[in-house]
Amino acid sequence: MATATFDSLNPSTGELIESFPRSTADDVDGAVATARAAWEDWRLVPAPERGNMLFRFAQLLEREKPALADLMTREMGKVKAEAGGDIQEAIDMSYYMGGEGRRLFGHTTPSELRDKFMMSVRMPVGVVGAITPWNFPIAIPAWKLCPALVCGNTVVLKPAEDTPLLAQRFVDLLAEAGVPEGVVNVVHGFGEEAGDALVRHPDVPIITFTGSRETGVLVTKAAADGLKHVHLELGGKNAIIVMDDADLDLAVDGIVWSAFGTAGQRCTAASRVVVHEAAYGELQSKLVARAERMRIGSPWEDDTEIGPVINEAAVEKIHSYTEIGRDEGAKLLTGGERVDGQGFYYRPTVFADVEPGMRIAQEEIFGPTTSLIPVRSFEEAVRAANSVRYGLSSSIFTRDVNKAFKAMRDLQTGITYVNAGTTGAEVHLPFGGTKETGNGHREAGQAALDVFTEWKSIYVDYSGKLQRAQIDNVAHPAPQ
Ligand code: NAD
Repeated sequence: MATATFDSLNPSTGELIESFPRSTADDVDGAVATARAAWEDWRLVPAPERGNMLFRFAQLLEREKPALADLMTREMGKVKAEAGGDIQEAIDMSYYMGGEGRRLFGHTTPSELRDKFMMSVRMPVGVVGAITPWNFPIAIPAWKLCPALVCGNTVVLKPAEDTPLLAQRFVDLLAEAGVPEGVVNVVHGFGEEAGDALVRHPDVPIITFTGSRETGVLVTKAAADGLKHVHLELGGKNAIIVMDDADLDLAVDGIVWSAFGTAGQRCTAASRVVVHEAAYGELQSKLVARAERMRIGSPWEDDTEIGPVINEAAVEKIHSYTEIGRDEGAKLLTGGERVDGQGFYYRPTVFADVEPGMRIAQEEIFGPTTSLIPVRSFEEAVRAANSVRYGLSSSIFTRDVNKAFKAMRDLQTGITYVNAGTTGAEVHLPFGGTKETGNGHREAGQAALDVFTEWKSIYVDYSGKLQRAQIDNVAHPAPQ
């Protein structure tokens, strides 16, 4: 059992929030055994009843929304309005998946033989190992646990080490909503210890992971020997395209929200802005003026627009990319430095004259830094937008319906927005990315059900005799 602990700190002040047990492989063993035992009954609980628990959970989240949002400003540093949005996303997901308790539709289809019935049904997979990041500390656990539970799986959650208290509150509310003991278990601690042990555990047939591309590769390799189902939601390098016919004020609103919201720490953050040369000068000056007016400060204060980034390592990483951008010859228009004083604050940063192949335009920075890439045509804009290894989100600002439809078709991402920034997903459409943002699965919407169930095809023969498919019903040979 864990004897060591680790600390959750307030990123605005560096102060201790609470200490948590640093779970070991033994703790993971215990949690998985509990989840495995609980699964024997949970899978038999009628799905509408499981759904009702999610409805109650949604109501509890609504009751706790102000307190959880306040805690999120302190433990994770998300500004107040965005913290409320994070929790609202969990509420929406919980209601949506609660409703699945009365759907979870399968299929029936006619048999090729007489007196035979065929159907496919969704079956739970077993114990789900869920590993989550800190940047949506309530929403992402909900994206994973709500569908996993309504489908009849039990769960061991390993939340991010930066936001353990929020994860603990989340799990406690599930218990209060009536989810039986043992169905949801949490192991706190570090990725290489508790996370890795969970991924490798032989009684965990499915891993759902959200985090960086690099960790996603490690998780995939660790799960390979057990031939597990692996669901990955990884990084992004999302681009907003601004065409010469765009409403530039609207585009700047979209860029500011997508590039600097959550201090740029969203998988869907707009860390590239691909701009038609005819709009380039005006867009630059409008964007810089807005970035410089943004209010940086304590996230729990009402008028703060940019809070801290998550920890010291994040500030250092973000700043290292400022230096990389300078060295690559990009033009720093504003920002590019940390804010003096306590806490992990970084100024909104805009680079101009960025080439699509530069590192600042290729690698995920995960901070309030965006790169302006000038282009001469729509085709060049799409090529630049697609020139990265990731494929999560994209957006285009244009008034030309033809260009909008071509962008919807040609941008190689799992999500595309038209005349809006790169963030703003709703829970009832699939969420996830192409290329190295994932491995082909999707979170949210109906697509999430495919992650957390396996199809079972069932044939019922009521003819009273042996009927051989593909043989007994093929009466005539093919014409010569
Ligand atoms: P991270 O990869 O460092 O950590 C994510 C989780 O994995 C944490 O709980 C961590 O403890 C655990 N982990 C680390 N090493 C592990 C290992 N070897 N085995 C098992 N688990 C391990 O990511 P982060 O810094 O917490 O989150 C930021 C990243 O998440 C960014 O790349 C961001 O784009 C991505 N993200 C993606 C989505 C999406 O839906 N595509 C959403 C949010 C965040």
